[in-house]
Amino acid sequence: MQVPRQQRPLQKKGARVLVIDRKKKIGFPVQCGETVTLNSLKAMGMDKGGWIRTTLKGYRMLMPNNKYIFIDEGMAILSREIFENELYERAKSSGAIYHLNEYAINIKKKDGGYRIFTSKDRVDAKYIIGADGPVSLIGNFMQAYEKRDFVVASINYAESRSGYRDYESIIFSSKYPDGYGYIFPRNDGEDNVGVVLKGKNLSASNKEFLKRYKYKKIYFTSGGLIPLNFKMRYYSKEGIMLCGDAAGLTSSVSYGGIYPAVVSGRLAGQVGAEMMDEKKKKDVFKRYDRILRKQPFFQKNGEKNHEMVYSMKDRQMNLIGELANGRSFREISIKEATIYLIRKRAFGILPRMIWMYRYTNKMTKY
Ligand SMILES: Cc1cc2nc3c(=O)[nH]c(=O)nc-3n(C[C@H](O)[C@H](O)[C@H](O)COP(=O)(O)OP(=O)(O)OC[C@H]3O[C@@H](n4cnc5c(N)ncnc54)[C@H](O)[C@@H]3O)c2cc1C
Repeated sequence: MQVPRQQRPLQKKGARVLVIDRKKKIGFPVQCGETVTLNSLKAMGMDKGGWIRTTLKGYRMLMPNNKYIFIDEGMAILSREIFENELYERAKSSGAIYHLNEYAINIKKKDGGYRIFTSKDRVDAKYIIGADGPVSLIGNFMQAYEKRDFVVASINYAESRSGYRDYESIIFSSKYPDGYGYIFPRNDGEDNVGVVLKGKNLSASNKEFLKRYKYKKIYFTSGGLIPLNFKMRYYSKEGIMLCGDAAGLTSSVSYGGIYPAVVSGRLAGQVGAEMMDEKKKKDVFKRYDRILRKQPFFQKNGEKNHEMVYSMKDRQMNLIGELANGRSFREISIKEATIYLIRKRAFGILPRMIWMYRYTNKMTKY
């Protein structure tokens, strides 16, 4: 998602911005479930426009026993293709130049800047914003990663089957280790469905999921990698800044990355513009790392959050399902949860319930 959001501040500062992307067509193929919270759409300044296919009242988290808990957080399902084309048009209108169907293959330092070798050409640049996704050439070149891990995910556009139209469904089960199955109902006769997981065959699990939820007519299938708990040495160094998946900013709980990618891209553009200001150049860099770490999506305890959710056994998740039994998490007090779990002698879950309560409260604020 080589975005314009970076460029506008830069152009104002007289920078020439070149976007290189290996995709032949902007926004295609889609490798995304296309869902975001309404709050984050607002924060991206993208809460009105033809890229919003559907809005929903929230999502239900289904446990292996099919019992669920509701999270009343307004959600939207986007057309990622329209969303990205909107960003592309905005970038072009502010002067960005696009080289599509062109691969960046290698980078070398050159005359205080960089030379990027691509499948078609070589380009000299003073600064680089690396938005090249989960397996980032730029991030590798910078040696930004101390540790990287991934989950894999599928996306299918399928003929609507699910009866639940007002809510998304997130399905937890040991069938989808470190992940979940998902059904995002769109109001155009199709659903976005798929699985996210680690350490299992994605295609087989995807087939199992489609069969389990009786999806027969599949119009489109794709998938990809999602960063999990990247340990970053830094997000910027010597004229290069990383954003989105290249910076490992996806949530280690929901695996959502659109919002962090859009905002971190915007920040990189703003800091980039400041870099054009000779006087400020020296300290500017550290600023990108500093402001990124202050963002609401920035995870200080990504691994712990991930552990809290994905290390639960099916029987533990089933207990939460029984406790909630279709209610919204707002209707379940910590007191009620405590009494219930003590009665069930499920002490191990209590800290997770309390964490889930706090985490969901925090997450539903942005
Ligand atoms: C199946 C799946 C479902 C998902 N569902 C959701 C969801 O519902 N909601 C959500 O918020 N997030 C979701 N995500 C995560 C989300 O898609 C990413 O976090 C988001 O796309 C990150 O944006 P980005 O710009 O950082 O990277 P990307 O969107 O990956 O964009 C990177 C761009 O760089 C280009 N590129 C890469 N390498 C090179 C190269 N060497 N040369 C030239 N171009 C290059 C690519 O072509 C691509 O256009 C999902 C991810 C997957 C895989």
